[in-house]
Amino acid sequence: MIKEVTTEIMIGNYAIARGLVEAGLELAAAYPGTPSSEIIPGIIEFNRRTQGNIHAEWSVNERCAFEAAFGAATAGKKAACMMKQVGLNVAFPPLLSARRKRLKGALVIVSCDDPGPQSSQTEQDTRLLATLFDIPVFDPASPKEASDVAYYALQYSFEKHTPVILRSTHRVSHAREAVPLHPPGKRPVALIEGIKASSSVSNTTCPVPARLGIIASGMSYSIVSDVISELDLETLVPVYKVVKIPRAKPPAPGQESKDREQKNENRELDEFINNMDRILVIEETDSVLEALLDDGNKVYGRLNGYIPDAGELTYDIVRDVIGRIAGDLEIKANRFVPDPLIEESLKGIQFPPRPPKLCAGCAHRASFFAMRQAYPEAIFPGDIGCYTLGISQGAVDTCLDMGAGVTMASGFYNAVNQDGKIIPILASVGDSTFFHACLPPLYDAVKKQKRFILVIMDNGTTAMTGMQPTPQTGITADGTKGRQVMIEDIINGFGVAFLRILDPYDIPHMISTIKEAEAYISENGNGPAVIIARRECLLFTKKKFSGTFNRAVLEEECIGCKRCIKLLDCPAMFFNDEKHKVAVDEGLCTGCGTCHIACSTCRPVKKA
Ligand code: SF4
Ligand code: SF4
Ligand code: SF4
Repeated sequence: MIKEVTTEIMIGNYAIARGLVEAGLELAAAYPGTPSSEIIPGIIEFNRRTQGNIHAEWSVNERCAFEAAFGAATAGKKAACMMKQVGLNVAFPPLLSARRKRLKGALVIVSCDDPGPQSSQTEQDTRLLATLFDIPVFDPASPKEASDVAYYALQYSFEKHTPVILRSTHRVSHAREAVPLHPPGKRPVALIEGIKASSSVSNTTCPVPARLGIIASGMSYSIVSDVISELDLETLVPVYKVVKIPRAKPPAPGQESKDREQKNENRELDEFINNMDRILVIEETDSVLEALLDDGNKVYGRLNGYIPDAGELTYDIVRDVIGRIAGDLEIKANRFVPDPLIEESLKGIQFPPRPPKLCAGCAHRASFFAMRQAYPEAIFPGDIGCYTLGISQGAVDTCLDMGAGVTMASGFYNAVNQDGKIIPILASVGDSTFFHACLPPLYDAVKKQKRFILVIMDNGTTAMTGMQPTPQTGITADGTKGRQVMIEDIINGFGVAFLRILDPYDIPHMISTIKEAEAYISENGNGPAVIIARRECLLFTKKKFSGTFNRAVLEEECIGCKRCIKLLDCPAMFFNDEKHKVAVDEGLCTGCGTCHIACSTCRPVKKA
């Protein structure tokens, strides 16, 4: 009798969580970052449902997550850590040391890439890092496969005593698919064997040798499959799907015969390549597989300009590339015919670009406005979080990596000071990023008496990645109570002599406090001044601010100068061209009153 398997529709990150839980995961640690943030909640959920005993935690940064998981794996546990692609850079130093250590337990590092990028400062390909340093790396093509691969990766790590990487991309992590649920440790043997063999030719009915073969991995493979079907190339162009990325360099002498699985994978891939006149490699985000295929002029890919060298490989791009190359090689492909109805409906429609904005009523907007009002000509080193969007208010000049706002402020101070100039430096950072990466930079600045103002925008949560708790909340990943660590205690502990805590909605007070801070740091011997602008994220609290803002007065008294629109960039405000006045969208406006204070007509900001 075949036992019925339950399936559940879930996003890729939950599927990864499910695979790890079923494989016997015992400890998980992560720092949130899109597109990886849902894996820890998934692990907590499946652990609860299976009544398991997994310890899952949010770490203060990716390095801590990696080291906690590595510690557990060293002690014999099956562990995993999760991060986004740029988070892997933070965990890079211990990863390099750990990759050669023999584990008693197991360690899967899940690193989620962001082709595009859609919510990162840069694109980056985790597979590149893994192959460069000879760390086994798996690249699933769909949520369901991500679950299987997560299961297999943890077992693989345990059997081989080595850390492995599971690379996902945002389309795999956030797509939804029906995923079978097995009890932990009870996956059928055939399924595990299937995962082992999943790097292979996918359309096996396609005759070989062929004029063109495609090698693809990850979400690119799923897109290639759809395109091949749409262009009717299934019997003409074989596709080789790569799940476990081949090693970058040949195994060391003596190792070759031991790693039979790797040898078989490489042999199959070599056979596939040898059977094709030409090879097209489609992969995100970098040229990892392509660079590994050393066969002269046979390969089409990024390196010779057949594929765009940056950005996400969308369906349209992949279809154009395959269609063009099939045409060049005189392989008969069905030409893509656009749907006339869709084409007609799109005619003449121009979609205006919509850069991201802070939410209507976000307290960061008030902080940035106050900073600009206090010192419009200041240098504004910024950081990474919702508040990076202060760029549109002219109050964020830099965005390098997490923590760089403080360290760059130190550098700016020395640069300005060396040139004998006096320019205010107003750095900004959020509460979660402060804990993540600002402690050594701030302590260093105090010790060296760097004179800048640091505004810590404390909204009580890690807002940008989905409201994960910060150490200050004292809440752990599964919602239980832990110990609170307050930002002001750290600042005081570092010996910062100027510390003020204020409500950013009180803009005149914030402006005068910034000026007070500037007066403090202008004295020789004083170090940085810190202002904590504390007001909870509106989306987190889901509360509207019930201030005294009167929308009607603002709209009536408006003289159409557009100052508020330029300075605040609030999505609830728009300009009514007919009336030549500002109007406020009642549905979006939270009543924070920032525009009322910013308006030169209704209520000019008091001179501090
Ligand atoms: S999510 Fe919260 S912190 Fe982020 S922009 Fe919106 S209100 Fe501001
Ligand atoms: S600043 Fe005041 S007067 Fe100027 S556009 Fe805005 S609401 Fe109107
Ligand atoms: S329109 Fe004015 S009061 Fe309303 S959310 Fe925007 S800044 Fe706040």
